[in-house]
Amino acid sequence: MSKVYDVLIIGGGPAGLTAGLYAGRAKLDTIILEAETLGGQIALTDEVENYPGALDDPTGPRLVQRMVEQFKGFGGELVMEAVESFDFDADIKTVKTSKNEYKAKSIIIASGASPRKLGAKGEEKFSGRGISFCATCDAAFFEGLEVYVIGGGDTAVEEAVFISKFARKVTIVHRRDELRAAKSIQEKAFNNEKIDFIWDSVVEEIAGEGLVSEMTLLNRKTNEKTVVKADEDDGTFGVFVMVGYIPKTEMFKGVIDMDEAGYIIGDANMKTNVEGVFVAGDCRQKPLRQVVTATSDGAIASISAEKYIDSKFEH
Ligand code: NAP
Repeated sequence: MSKVYDVLIIGGGPAGLTAGLYAGRAKLDTIILEAETLGGQIALTDEVENYPGALDDPTGPRLVQRMVEQFKGFGGELVMEAVESFDFDADIKTVKTSKNEYKAKSIIIASGASPRKLGAKGEEKFSGRGISFCATCDAAFFEGLEVYVIGGGDTAVEEAVFISKFARKVTIVHRRDELRAAKSIQEKAFNNEKIDFIWDSVVEEIAGEGLVSEMTLLNRKTNEKTVVKADEDDGTFGVFVMVGYIPKTEMFKGVIDMDEAGYIIGDANMKTNVEGVFVAGDCRQKPLRQVVTATSDGAIASISAEKYIDSKFEH
């Protein structure tokens, strides 16, 4: 029989890496499978101001790098493979990727969430041609240009401030007349001379030839449509879509209990409805999604998995 891991973690963001760190430290045979970006959303964040201790060196990628080192330091395995199918019915659970089949006594789902799309006309066509979902990745491409940031939450407002270091002007387009972002984050935007606001408006269409050069906005209060055009000298502008996230839990539907929005339901010990399967991080139904709550979930899920293994399997 192939190797049986004690803990198999799906997702290598802060939740998964912390679960892995705790499991490795408890001398459990641990593997993390990560499909795309090690570190998840935080790897795409320029500044992490509110993770305790991340004072001197607060960029997301650096924090992730340290988490990975710490996890590996406790002997965990990390594999960049996407989970394609699974069988959680038996005591020994199976997870398949395109390359391998893995077996484990317990599973921690820490698959995170991905950026929500607007659903506006032209959004797909111009993704990567003026439309971006990641300020850390793409802000530098808009050096000296105009940029529109769509959304009114922490991400949109915080990243608008970051983008203003590169762009000539940043306009936050929000569908209501007040921001959802935390007051401290709002203040930074309101005090930034480069940042402007368009309220009560949603994006209907993004257009251009090759690159984005036009965007149609609809004012939800007046029903008035406005077409924003690129400055003639620039020929283009940037659109950063930052309207929240959707949980990456689609493949678990029908097996793992989740709410209507697709967030997995776990109890205070991160247990799901399936024995031996735990959940942690942004893919879990919870009131606050932050790095600090993701790492907390990861630690709890790992300890719960350890207890489960002790009670279920003979040494
Ligand atoms: P969010 O809090 O869900 O905010 C999404 C924003 O996008 C809201 O303002 C929402 O408008 C707007 N929106 C949603 N769908 C839209 C659509 N189709 N068209 C136009 N606008 C749309 O998402 P987030 O800002 O990405 O934050 C996600 C989580 O991460 C939150 O828990 C947040 O606190 C956390 N976070 C924290 C920090 C930090 O603490 N420094 C930084 C980043 C993120 P409405 O307001 O009208 O709903």
